[in-house]
Amino acid sequence: ESPPPAAAPDMARARETLERVWGHADFRGLQASVVEQVLAGRDVLAVLPTGGGKSVCYQIPAMLRPGLGLVVSPLIALMTDQVEALKQQGVRAARLDSGVSLTDRSAIWDAARAGELDLLYVSPEGLAQPHMIDRLASLPLALIAIDEAHCVSQWGHDFRPDYRDLGRLAGMFPGVPRIAVTATADARTRDDILASLRLSDAAVFVDSFDRPNLQLIAERKVNGSRARTDARVVELVGERSGKSGVVYCGSRDGCERLADQLRQTGVHAIAYHAGMAPAERDKRLERFLAEDGAVMVATIASAWGWDKPDVRFVIHADPPGSLEAYWQEIGRAGRDGEPAEGVTLYGPSDIAWALRRLDGRPMDETVKQVQVRKVRQLFAMLDGAACRPQAVRRYFGETDAKPCGQCDVCLDPPQTHDATVQAQKALAAVQRLDQRFGRGRVIDHLTGRTKDVQGWETALSTWGVGADISPNGWREVIDHLLFEGLLEEDPNEGKPLLRLGDPEAVRGVYRGERTVEVARVPLRHDPTT
Ligand code: ADP
Ligand code: ZN
Repeated sequence: ESPPPAAAPDMARARETLERVWGHADFRGLQASVVEQVLAGRDVLAVLPTGGGKSVCYQIPAMLRPGLGLVVSPLIALMTDQVEALKQQGVRAARLDSGVSLTDRSAIWDAARAGELDLLYVSPEGLAQPHMIDRLASLPLALIAIDEAHCVSQWGHDFRPDYRDLGRLAGMFPGVPRIAVTATADARTRDDILASLRLSDAAVFVDSFDRPNLQLIAERKVNGSRARTDARVVELVGERSGKSGVVYCGSRDGCERLADQLRQTGVHAIAYHAGMAPAERDKRLERFLAEDGAVMVATIASAWGWDKPDVRFVIHADPPGSLEAYWQEIGRAGRDGEPAEGVTLYGPSDIAWALRRLDGRPMDETVKQVQVRKVRQLFAMLDGAACRPQAVRRYFGETDAKPCGQCDVCLDPPQTHDATVQAQKALAAVQRLDQRFGRGRVIDHLTGRTKDVQGWETALSTWGVGADISPNGWREVIDHLLFEGLLEEDPNEGKPLLRLGDPEAVRGVYRGERTVEVARVPLRHDPTT
């Protein structure tokens, strides 16, 4: 006997709620399909781009289905903002985190039992407490939403160990529909989310990553000097004066330093990072959100969850560690659909730093390899000669993505040069020199300019084989080899040494099976040849 057909989901009521509570005329993108499935009691995985409106996908079904909607969210700050915003809109929402007093806690549970609560936000640690589960088990649940679901996967870019246990919710609350949402998950991460959260029957929705209002630019840092990079950021912000923007910075120091320098040029710059007291941070965020033309200078990790629709530019003073993170951060710009820009500055020391950071993390070797590959894929895109949004969208599985027509590559395609022979020479030199030297010294060797050179060095077959090319040309080649992972920089007492990268790739270049293309810098010493 087949079960009775599920009641037709009431999309009219869902639209009415969207309009009444949020003031939005209609669902957009895949929202309606997601809401429809969740209303019907189906498990869902929804991958919607940053700013795509993931929250209403579970908030509206939680309000319309009988019972309490449980939302698992990774960050307390994020939760607080969302719940406050909901309350102001008249939605019956609450959060339970370590900052909530005992009295407030029992009031929340009372409201939940009385059926007076539509949404309850909890952290994954909170959920790990047995009394929390016991209490939830005695309540009718409308749904369970898992926000930032990519955190469950080691293959994603922001794995959080306390997310790993969320799969057990499937067994604890059978029959309660679960919806996992995230902005960034490649195919492998999506599969892992489905498996880890035990969402085998889930309807999967993956929205297009196309953001036609974003113009993307990547610019290589000039010789990696911090002062030059700061000056360039100040210049870029100056060219966009009066507009709201975000500058992402790799370190707290860098944040403070850049914010200072921007203020000196009259920009309303606000530093924002995790080293500040929470109250101070909230104050700064409020100022940024409220003011026109303010520029937030933030560390990457600190800047989650807020929503300022008129951010006109995002500048990376330091790039992040993956295409996922890049897309998420760039996605802060132009949420209102109006034109916006993403400008990323990058250099060889950035890739070295990103890899070094991974080295220090305790993780499985295979997981580490995946994370290393993510770093390399980002830098290959930044230093590559392919349309940037197209490259990102292909990475996320949109194989039919077309060139955007407006990124720096589309507008001004770099002239690329086949540098396979030069790459072979550089790799061979690094090898012959026993991987004991840094970039400058390797270039001296290639061009035959080593000071006080000794016999052992002139005896090497690579001595002076690159004299036809200028040192700058070699710098271009070697930087590019670093971005492609054919060379790596090994930090040694502050002076990075060059060593060979991925052996298989290096072999490919030696054999001429893999070509290397470099952009922009004239390779030849003599411009007439
Ligand atoms: P995400 O979590 O996917 O980054 P949010 O849920 O915070 O995005 O929504 C981003 C912004 O888009 C919010 O300002 C939200 O009010 C708005 N939004 C959501 N759905 C719609 C819609 N259907 N029409 C217009 N704006 C919407
Ligand atoms: Zn393009």
